[in-house]
Amino acid sequence: MILKRDEPLAPRTSWKVGGRAEYFFIPERHEEVPQAMSYCRAKGLELRVLGGGTNLLVRDEGCPAVLSLEKFRHTDGYGPFARAEAGASFPAFVKKVADNACGGSEALAGIPGTVGGALVMNAGGHHGEIGEFVRRVKCVEPDGRIVTLDRDACGFRYRDSDLKHRVILSVDFEFTEGDRAVIRSRMREIVTKKRASQPLHGRSAGCVFRNPPGAAAGRLIDECGFKGARVGGAVVSTVHANFLMNEADASAGDLLALIHQVQNRVRESRGVDLELEIKVW
Ligand SMILES: Cc1cc2nc3c(=O)[nH]c(=O)nc-3n(C[C@H](O)[C@H](O)[C@H](O)COP(=O)(O)OP(=O)(O)OC[C@H]3O[C@@H](n4cnc5c(N)ncnc54)[C@H](O)[C@@H]3O)c2cc1C
Repeated sequence: MILKRDEPLAPRTSWKVGGRAEYFFIPERHEEVPQAMSYCRAKGLELRVLGGGTNLLVRDEGCPAVLSLEKFRHTDGYGPFARAEAGASFPAFVKKVADNACGGSEALAGIPGTVGGALVMNAGGHHGEIGEFVRRVKCVEPDGRIVTLDRDACGFRYRDSDLKHRVILSVDFEFTEGDRAVIRSRMREIVTKKRASQPLHGRSAGCVFRNPPGAAAGRLIDECGFKGARVGGAVVSTVHANFLMNEADASAGDLLALIHQVQNRVRESRGVDLELEIKVW
């Protein structure tokens, strides 16, 4: 296991903000994950799991202990079946299963991050979510036991799951038998639509707020006149109001202040409490 001290976290997140991790663990074998957990438990340190950092706001103060699964990147597939370790790149995995003619994978195009992060967040969009294709998940329970869970035990729901207090190690998937050409063309369609409606090239963490029942968070923020609103280097995207951009060396504090301004304005003028989709460390 590799252990680093005072590791900067900003370069490891898509927003490129935030402080350092006092302890940064990089296990090289699955069995080392429970070891890192028990080390932190003994020292009274809260241990957090880092994926691709694409749905994450790390505070400027940083955090005590972080576990990175960057050494667990193996993927494999045969027909509609696939297996991926949690630290594998999610876009690369989706491309690989699409090349294997796995039907349903087209719905997962254009989502950055890792397989583990996608699972915890039940990542997806209008066309489908990752949880639909899961068969089994190998993970570490909070007490350190390595277990295998069936899909029904994962509690997949809108951008959430029951996996968040566990450490995901690897996942078995089952897609449907598809047609490679149809999958590729649907993927292109979905990515083209995303490019037209979302600011995919700046420094962001995707959608910051969950959509409230029956409404779109981005539309509510837009209707409150918040597109282009700014705190320091943090700006509400003018393309999609649910994306907050780090435009000019924003701090995590700038982003948090802008998040609170948006929440207050939407609550005052529309009576809706916007909940966070991103995780704040
Ligand atoms: C430009 C852009 C576009 C996006 N578009 C979409 C979209 O279309 N649909 C969508 O759903 N999301 C989207 N997102 C958000 C984000 O990409 C997804 O939520 C992604 O699945 C997060 O994965 P990650 O590996 O980066 O997780 P991280 O941000 O690193 O972590 C997210 C959460 O998962 C936990 N976690 C990560 N890995 C593990 C693990 N192995 N075990 C246990 N817990 C773990 C972390 O502790 C944290 O709580 C977008 C983001 C960006 C920047």
